[in-house]
Formats: sequence, structure tokens, C-alpha cells
Amino acid sequence: MFTIANGIILKGLNLDPIKENIVVDDGIIIDISKDACEGKIIDVEGSIVCPTFFNAHTHIGDSIIKDEAYGLSLSEMVKPPNGVKHRALASASDEEIIGAMKSAMFEMLESGTTHFIDYREGGTKGVKLLKEASKDIPINPIILGRDDSFYGDDPDLSKVKIAVRKLLKVADGIAPSGFGEISDEVANLITSECEKAGKISSIHVGESLNNQIESIDKYNKSEIKRGIDSNFNQLVHCTNPQSDDLVNLSNSNSNVVVCPRANATLNVGVAPLNDMLALGINPLLGTDNLMINSPNMLRELEFSLKVMSVSYKNYLNPLELLKMATTNPCMFDFSKSYIEIGNAAELIIFKQISKNPFLNIINRGETKNILYIIDKNYTNNILDR
Ligand SMILES: [Zn+2]
Repeated sequence: MFTIANGIILKGLNLDPIKENIVVDDGIIIDISKDACEGKIIDVEGSIVCPTFFNAHTHIGDSIIKDEAYGLSLSEMVKPPNGVKHRALASASDEEIIGAMKSAMFEMLESGTTHFIDYREGGTKGVKLLKEASKDIPINPIILGRDDSFYGDDPDLSKVKIAVRKLLKVADGIAPSGFGEISDEVANLITSECEKAGKISSIHVGESLNNQIESIDKYNKSEIKRGIDSNFNQLVHCTNPQSDDLVNLSNSNSNVVVCPRANATLNVGVAPLNDMLALGINPLLGTDNLMINSPNMLRELEFSLKVMSVSYKNYLNPLELLKMATTNPCMFDFSKSYIEIGNAAELIIFKQISKNPFLNIINRGETKNILYIIDKNYTNNILDR
């Protein structure tokens, strides 16, 4: 048992900043109050105690080719099966991919991320490689798989069904790349099989304006509308919503993941975060492909705050942005905790540099300013580094 004492804690789903102590026993928060004081005392006076980060969208296998394809278009880089990343993954050895994924997970942990959703290429083997890479690392991967049988205009649906069921035996869900590569029949098959198995279905939608226009020309529906109509649990990007897309998203059961640094690198625009928030959408934040971005959520947070001002000439609420990286995922079924009695202790303790606790993390947060990372299976003290 230990007490984190004298810090400003960002409590509850709304990250309310209050100066109270937190008592942790066997990985669970058992008390939060001004006078709580049990077990070993960790005095964090002059610090901010924030829930750990949840990175809602990564492809960590891509870290075998960091920065190697800079300047290429979205489809040249990532469109399966012949994008640069797919060719690199196909020619890399298992050991190379495992080594690259391990170093990516350590980078995430060091910068405060304890949970991430990975969109893993390579079928069941790809899922198993990430499980193998993560087995001794105290981080919580949620692994979504995909299979080459999904692609093409006229795929064999019985083969797709077999591949989906095999994947669901080892993965936490399924995530095909995008509607440019798969038919609506395949999409519906994936989402219904995931729902039956109680697992997650996700897809990239509306990343570029071209994707959206091609979808409207061919199907009379945007990619975002097709994602909603196919009942995907999670829609990644939504950078270029058309006509009623945002209203439809706000009325749907699908959650939205935005990746502003990836969108900026690939010249596809900026997800309209202010408009999403005004409609009651609670997006999650992800760092996307490791070939173009580090998986560091602190970098994603600062970039996201500032690019919104550039693009929309309007401020983004820092509290709402920080929630996208910490507590918004707690509203969905991802086993991620926020600071409340009875929840798992998953905490980052930042040195306090400014008086605004949210901007302190977004504007001033760096790995070197993290004093402790605490979660149920990982306690990192800066003094041990
Ligand atoms: Zn992606």
C-alpha cells in the first residue's frame, strides 16, 4: 500500500483538478481525500497527477521503416497490398519486426502511455508477433487484425469469413484498412462477426478528400456514412467530413479517433475537432503510423492544440483535448481507468511547471518531466532511471 501525497490530481472523467491524496492498495485506488495517509508516502508536492495516456491508433510494425517514405502520398505509403509499408513488412524478418515493435512500446511507456490500440497487418501471424513482442513489457496492447483475403472488388466471402473467425480467436478485433480496398459486403461480414464475438471492429474513413469523393461517386455515400451504416465500433480519422457526416457521427454508436500529426504529414487536412465537440462527439486521440510519427502522446497533444488554431483560427479547449488522450476511452469498453475510488491506479505524475494543469501537460509535458508512471503492473520512479 502507498499514498501519493500533496499533488494536484486530475480526478474523475472530467479531470477536475483538486489537491488531494490518493491511497493505492494492490494496484487499486482505495481512498482519495485531503488527509489520506497510509503505507509508504510518495510526496509529490509541486506535481500534477494525471491518468495515463491511451493511444487509440497505432501501427507499431511500421517502426521498421521510420522516416523512410517521407514525401510520398497517402496511397503510395499505406494502401494495401503494395504500399511502401506493406512491401517493407513483407520483406522484414520476424525478429526485425518484433525488435522494432518492442522499442516502440518502450517509447510509449516512457512517455506515459499504458494502453494502445494497434492496427496490425499480417493476419493471425501479425497478431501473434505483437503478442510475442509485448509479453514481457508492462503495457496493455489491444490488437486489431486484418487479412489479405478482405481486398478486391469480388472477394470470396466464404474465405473472408474463415479468415475473420481465425483472427478473432487471437485478436481483440478486426480492422481492415479502408473502404477503398474492401466492399460493403466484406465490411458487414467483419462487423457482424466481431459483434457476435464481443470484439472490436474498426476502419479508417474520410482520411483524404479524394477517398470521400471516390466513395460518393461510386456508392453515393461518403466513407464516413459507409462506416456508420456498416456498424463499425470505431472510425479512424474522419478528417474530411462531407454534408451530414458529422451530424450522422454524433447520432451513431461509433466512436471517432483523430490523428492530427499523421494527417498533417500526409497533407490531407485537419480533423474538425471543435465542430465534433460542439456536436457532443467525444473523440479519442492516436499517433497512427510509426513510419511517419513517434508514438509519443505528448507530441500529439501539443501539435493538436496548435494546429486547430492554425486551421480554424479558433482555440481548442485544452481540457477537452487532454480528455481525448486520457478519459474519453474510459467511456468505451477498453478496460482503461480514470482517477476514482475503486478504479485501477494508472497514473502519470508530471512536474508542475505552469499554473494551468492542462496546459502544463499539453504545452510543457516532456518525458523528462515525468516523475513517476504508476499502473497495476508498472511502477517507474525517475530515481531508478
Ligand atoms: Zn492508421
